[in-house]
Amino acid sequence: LEYAVLDDSVGFSGRTLLFVDGKELGPAPCLAICQKLKATEVLLFHCDSDWTVLGAGFYAAVSEAKKRAERIYPGISPCWIDAQVTEDAAVRWLDEMWGDRRCGFCGRRPDEVAQIFGRGAVHICDTCVTEFHKALQESPGGAGKG
Ligand SMILES: [Zn+2]
Repeated sequence: LEYAVLDDSVGFSGRTLLFVDGKELGPAPCLAICQKLKATEVLLFHCDSDWTVLGAGFYAAVSEAKKRAERIYPGISPCWIDAQVTEDAAVRWLDEMWGDRRCGFCGRRPDEVAQIFGRGAVHICDTCVTEFHKALQESPGGAGKG
């Protein structure tokens, strides 16, 4: 949704209070506020200069994420830049990214399910596997009889 590249005008409180593998994350040069499609909460990503994610925290709203960022990095507030990504654009990007790995049965993308199983060009999601497994157990002569 929004991102910020920290410059010299931005301070560092000394604490991120964000722990990765038991170690507190140090100051990050880039921050991004992101939201999964159809989610209400947002993520505040702490990134290195190549935008590789170092750590992240969940917040109820963009304003909460920004408040937290301001507490960690005093002076960051004017640095936020609106990424101007519409929901349609995000869906298009996800389709391009994941379109050929959709579940062949329900059409969900890998980002919409917990797991996708694939063999060659054929993919199936965990939800469909569970459904088929249930159907198989309930069908006469199915595996559920024993
Ligand atoms: Zn499926």
